Amino acid sequence: MTATLEPKDRQQLLDRFLRYVKVDTRSDESSESSPTTEKQKDLSRMLAEELKALGCDDAAMNEWGYVLASIPANLPSDHPAAGKVPAIGLIAHVDTYFGTSGKDVKPQIIESYDGGDITLNAEQVLKAADNPNLAKCVGHKLIHTDGTTLLGADDKAGVAEIMTAIAWIKANPNFLHGPIKIAFTTDEEVGRGTEHFDVKAFGADYAYTLDGSDLGEIEDETFCADTANVTVVGHDVHPGYAKDKLVNALRVTAAIIEGIGDELLPETTEGREPYLHPYIASGDVTKVDLKVLVRAFSVEKLNEREDFLKKVIADVEKRFPKAKISVEISESYRNMAYKIREDPKVLDYALEAVERIGVTPIRQAIRGGTDGARLSYMGLLTPNVWAGGQNFHSVREWVSLEWMSKAVEATLEILTVWVEKSA
Ligand SMILES: [Zn+2]
Repeated sequence: MTATLEPKDRQQLLDRFLRYVKVDTRSDESSESSPTTEKQKDLSRMLAEELKALGCDDAAMNEWGYVLASIPANLPSDHPAAGKVPAIGLIAHVDTYFGTSGKDVKPQIIESYDGGDITLNAEQVLKAADNPNLAKCVGHKLIHTDGTTLLGADDKAGVAEIMTAIAWIKANPNFLHGPIKIAFTTDEEVGRGTEHFDVKAFGADYAYTLDGSDLGEIEDETFCADTANVTVVGHDVHPGYAKDKLVNALRVTAAIIEGIGDELLPETTEGREPYLHPYIASGDVTKVDLKVLVRAFSVEKLNEREDFLKKVIADVEKRFPKAKISVEISESYRNMAYKIREDPKVLDYALEAVERIGVTPIRQAIRGGTDGARLSYMGLLTPNVWAGGQNFHSVREWVSLEWMSKAVEATLEILTVWVEKSA
């Protein structure tokens, strides 16, 4: 049976979303604590209570602000898949982007979008021409901001969708499913969303984050990421008497950055192209620490870029023979596709489920990392499914309720596919 949301389910999905976005859960990049902001727990506490009210008795928030809960399988003992369905995790994050205010969010609702520009406030207009996805949402119920804060669809759309899937499952006891594990995490936006994630205790065999954007999107690829830490040591001499003696670490660093060229930078690449990104240079004439991000979709391409950087440095060393330059490469994360390829059904079943609900799946490679990528390397394969939000992290964020509803239906269908394939 393919689950379809009724108007009342959609209304509940909307009500949940509106309730969650009004809770300020902005994370803080500069904070060392966990969670980085205590206010994230305001939403987590609310979710734990709502889960309990839905009948998830084990729902609880831990000290890191994560909410964990589970739903046991409900297959009758004579069902061919009874006891054989892997536990499926559903994951979303409660925090919102640290760079944009998430306080006093005033969500604005368009009952049926007409295809035109959307006025956010006296100064700001969301232009249909700049937002090609708006054209796909004519007739949809849209939620946008008043132009002063972010909306928080990243990732409260995902949170509301998972909560609605759970509510639907509880309300439809005839819907057969295997064990379900739920996690709402904190601090995803500051890259620390899996810092305290105990994969073993969570108990899922496979998982999905609902944290993507466009309808149908399934992301199973991320960048491979390294950081090159370049240290340039010069030789400082009184500039009045410096002839043939002074080696200026700043000029050496500038030569390295110049040597990287214009073509393979984040600002000049897209799609599956790799890049080198010099992003921090700190120091003075004597010594400079330069950090360069290296990104590519394969380890081979990543190594190619690193070799190129080393060659640039070797050339600069020839020009400044008295400078001492060293490079140390540190690994950040790897493309989760490498892990998913080892056991691709987690992806295949999601693609099949999306097709079954009448949506064309769009496989995407993310030019970044995700919590799912890190989890995949921690032993829990976790592709990312769309949640519907657009213009993430900005005051121009908006979301379509239909795309959110479809994400709930896809989630339920994924659970069904897992049951069928386990029989
Ligand atoms: Zn997100």
